[in-house]
Amino acid sequence: MAPLPRPQASTVRAIYEAYEAANKAYDSWGLSVGEMGTECDRALFYNFRWASQPEEIDGRKLSIFRTGDRWEEVLVSDLERIGVEVYDQQDRIRLVHGFVRGKCDGKAVGVPEAPATEHLCEFKSSNDKGFKEIVKHGCQKAKPLHYTQCQLGMYAFGLTRCLYYVVNKNDDARYVERLHFDLEFCLRQLARAERIVFTDAPPSRISDNPDFFGCRFCKHKAVCHEGAMPRVSCRTCLHFQPERGGDCHVSCARWSKPLGIEEQRSACPAMLFLPALVPFEQIDCDPEAETITYRTPSGALWIDGAANDNEPGSTNA
Ligand code: SF4
Ligand code: SF4
Repeated sequence: MAPLPRPQASTVRAIYEAYEAANKAYDSWGLSVGEMGTECDRALFYNFRWASQPEEIDGRKLSIFRTGDRWEEVLVSDLERIGVEVYDQQDRIRLVHGFVRGKCDGKAVGVPEAPATEHLCEFKSSNDKGFKEIVKHGCQKAKPLHYTQCQLGMYAFGLTRCLYYVVNKNDDARYVERLHFDLEFCLRQLARAERIVFTDAPPSRISDNPDFFGCRFCKHKAVCHEGAMPRVSCRTCLHFQPERGGDCHVSCARWSKPLGIEEQRSACPAMLFLPALVPFEQIDCDPEAETITYRTPSGALWIDGAANDNEPGSTNA
């Protein structure tokens, strides 16, 4: 018989719970520069449209995030120790009408390899396995998300070099790579982001097999592959409209008004799911009554908009 797992100490449990209680779940306004290197366009579309329920992050993982923040402070002081000047930490990045967003870790001059060149800074802390991959293959191949984040950061600030500085959390080993700006890469990413933000149709999957490695741990797997209903919010409503020319401005075509972040979370009684997100067959729509009728896999009819409660199965014809 396998040994029974030892119960978690009450103190540890209380600490994790305290982290969880202090963590405020938030919805991202747009696409973060840190996620733009995600391989799957559809995953980015689902992120932008808040298609899945918010992830619950456990206390231990929240503690890891805190440790990452502390490492960032150490890496800055490392650089200052050798005479590098680090500044503009947390400067905002806004691209594609503000829909691609983020903050930089800083900028630096006095980097020993090129003291006069202004560098973007990107600081990362990694576990041993990830660190060894970075050392072996370099940032672009080992960490495409980091690479894309660095490239878009350089684009945003008009810089040509990025100091990618990583620490191994297991043994404190350090790794530095000076990335060169790649304009073509950035333009491709920005055009991609524009397509994803302004489409109403989920882009193609990276695989139609839910057991494909890239899909197995995707937070959108249920909505994407398993026929789950999307979350209710303005982002999944067919009246939702991203706007060009502002800083992440979105509006409602139904009520002809701009939408704030809070009201997007709660949606309104006129909410109608974007049909491309509904896992049923659309068979009718009634613009006057503002309803859309679907046939579910069991053959039952579901009328979205009829009861204004957005619960499939609540109103069958
Ligand atoms: S489950 Fe796979 S195809 Fe679907 S969004 Fe996630 S990564 Fe993309
Ligand atoms: S109709 Fe309601 S739910 Fe839909 S976008 Fe407008 S305010 Fe949001």
